[in-house]
Amino acid sequence: MRVLVTGGAGYIGSVVAKRLLEHGEEVAVLDDLSTGHADAVPEGAELHLGRVHDAGSVLAGCRFDAAVHLAAASLVAESIADPAKYEENNVVGSRRLLEALGGLGVGVLVFSSTAAVYGEPESVPIEEDAPTRPVNPYGASKLAVDEMLAAEAERSGLAAVSLRYFNVAGAYAGLGERHHPETHLVPIALEVALGLRPSLVVYGDDYPTPDGTCVRDYIHVADIAEAHLAALAHAEAGRHRVYNLGNGTGFSVLEVIAAVERVTGRMLEVTVGPRRPGDPAVLVASSARARLELGWSPRRASLERIVGDAFEVLEARRGEQP
Ligand code: UDP
Repeated sequence: MRVLVTGGAGYIGSVVAKRLLEHGEEVAVLDDLSTGHADAVPEGAELHLGRVHDAGSVLAGCRFDAAVHLAAASLVAESIADPAKYEENNVVGSRRLLEALGGLGVGVLVFSSTAAVYGEPESVPIEEDAPTRPVNPYGASKLAVDEMLAAEAERSGLAAVSLRYFNVAGAYAGLGERHHPETHLVPIALEVALGLRPSLVVYGDDYPTPDGTCVRDYIHVADIAEAHLAALAHAEAGRHRVYNLGNGTGFSVLEVIAAVERVTGRMLEVTVGPRRPGDPAVLVASSARARLELGWSPRRASLERIVGDAFEVLEARRGEQP
């Protein structure tokens, strides 16, 4: 297969591109490098520089069998501060990409959606038919694209899949998180352990959870990438399918910090601050549907493995810097 990966210079996209190449597929990446890194695009993948809005012109003359669409703005706090950016990048950008797909020959699309579409869940683990009531513009923008894909599958016969990731972490083949600024818990905690930042703030310890801190379902980036391969293989023309991707186990912020301390052998300087707007108390996935229909199951489920793989790559990268 010849596969287009939008956002393939980013953290998750680069791992998806790498796994596709290892699986023997041909890969082209479309990325504007606004947050991604050219050196994260795996060897063997072609990099086309541009926004998804311009996919039709940037990729004119190219043909693909399938696309994996990950290019997006993806920070909850930023989306609250600048909702128009999320509408433009995520919703309008996806619309333009869909308009270009026919001309590029693409009949299968796998989309990077998110647990944030569910907002504050009524019950956990969260199944795909749970109510979708996003509590921030990021989640709302991804939900809008999920809905766009359902309509497009019906209209044009596109085979469409939305993968709703829970908390992606870890690293694969030297590819780890490199966000600037970094906002995610696992890399921030690791940076504190490595002495790259002085301390970590826990955003709220008064949530209705066992230790008062937010509970999330952390999932290894390589397991997430594997689900994209399975989704490409199982997508059906004219249908839009939705799958939650998580391990089905929740860990609190304090439990993640403890895991980072165990893995790195270092104690972290931690303070407790106010809640971060837009953070639900508990997000844990039911991935029963993905297991059943895609034959997918996470193979790197332990928190130690996820944190350990991220640590290894961060440490190696630090060693390379002058
Ligand atoms: N978090 C925290 N301190 C930080 C970064 C994150 O306490 O410096 C918390 C955050 O409030 C959430 C969890 O860690 O409950 C995971 O946040 P992250 O930003 O990694 O992912 P999100 O859940 O927003 O996708």
